[in-house]
Amino acid sequence: MVNTTIKTTKSQEIFAAAQNLMPGGVNSPVRAFKSVGGQPIVFDHVKGAYIWDVDGNQYIDYVGTWGPAICGHAHPEVIAALHEALEKGTSFGAPCVLENVLAEMVIDAVPSIEMVRFVNSGTEACMAVLRLMRAFTGREKIIKFEGCYHGHADMFLVKAGSGVATLGLPDSPGVPKSVTSSTLTAPFNDLEAVKALFEENRDQIAGVILEPVVGNAGFIPPDTGFLEGLRELTQEHGALLVFDEVMTGFRIAYGGAQEKFGITPDLTTLGKVIGGGLPVGAYGGRQDIMSMVAPAGPMYQAGTLSGNPLAMTAGIKTLELLQKAGTYEYLEQMTKKLANGLLQIAQETGHPACSDSISAMFGLFFTAGPVHNYEDAKKSDLAKFARFHRGMLEHGIYLAPSQFEAGFTSFAHTEEDIDRTLEAAKDVMSQL
Ligand SMILES: *Cc1c(COP(=O)(O)O)cnc(C)c1O
Repeated sequence: MVNTTIKTTKSQEIFAAAQNLMPGGVNSPVRAFKSVGGQPIVFDHVKGAYIWDVDGNQYIDYVGTWGPAICGHAHPEVIAALHEALEKGTSFGAPCVLENVLAEMVIDAVPSIEMVRFVNSGTEACMAVLRLMRAFTGREKIIKFEGCYHGHADMFLVKAGSGVATLGLPDSPGVPKSVTSSTLTAPFNDLEAVKALFEENRDQIAGVILEPVVGNAGFIPPDTGFLEGLRELTQEHGALLVFDEVMTGFRIAYGGAQEKFGITPDLTTLGKVIGGGLPVGAYGGRQDIMSMVAPAGPMYQAGTLSGNPLAMTAGIKTLELLQKAGTYEYLEQMTKKLANGLLQIAQETGHPACSDSISAMFGLFFTAGPVHNYEDAKKSDLAKFARFHRGMLEHGIYLAPSQFEAGFTSFAHTEEDIDRTLEAAKDVMSQL
């Protein structure tokens, strides 16, 4: 592997100009390279497992636009379907049959979902599901987990993951205390802590929301019995269990983490993959709960562009592609090879590390681990991660610019891509 030092002159110019136009030069904080140093590269186009920057450099991509690109970027069938849909108009603001099609696909796939509402982002889905939890139970408090991210709505910006963790921000200014005082937190994988919160707040907790497999504090799978325990505790206390599967839906398995682990929550949020690269979110669950949503019921939630034909088309085509036999077996085996390979290289080059993967999601922490929660994840050597990230970038491998983000693969990634990535990792880690 040649040690290429990439030229990124155009990226730098564009990003410098962007700094004066948009806060931090970006429209979402995780895109900035704040925690890894250096400057973000500016993309020109994407295809399959690859991205090209404005200077013409090619990279193997493990961010996949933060999750949606599970079929690989700009899949020809998705693009063709979008072209066709485009001719019929981009938004109707009225019912269209494509909404039925995607709704049926989601209901068939996700065990907990009997009825679904489409929105335009994961944030919106989580905001709405929280309102619904409260409306249905008549209770105000919720339990979330440290390092889990549920979008940027006020009540979730308490010990949140993703960019909040990456930037080491305290809970955000501008969020009223009166809003977050109803948000209780516990460490992930800590059933006893959840039990204690239920005891201290009897008949006040509307529900528990979590990423069933954490991706926003780095990659952290649930311990055996954790999801089962939450299912039992919520039932015992008349509270709802909500899986935020915005990241894990159609990624951990076709039916999400709930299918993989065999635990059925009351409500589920989706996003990312179901939009196939266009802005889509969704929330759904038991029919009796979903019937509270307006206009069927009194809980208000609406959206001008919700369920638009373009977004529905990208979602439908993406899910169709995922239904092909062998897809998830391939994702599992290929991603495992990557995660195991990275760990082995770290060990051979003397770096304490731990690594894991499920299906098309993986993580590598620069700490010996094991990592069960956000506190454990924070023991990672962040300076080392930053050097690793930079080195990989210079070798043409694009990783999320944060230790506190999961990695994503797609079925466009080939064995050869994985081999090239591991070769690069060997080179980089031996010089860290
Ligand atoms: C990305 C994400 C969100 C927020 O979705 P947006 O579309 O970025 O608003 C919410 N929850 C989880 C688990 C996510 O990964």
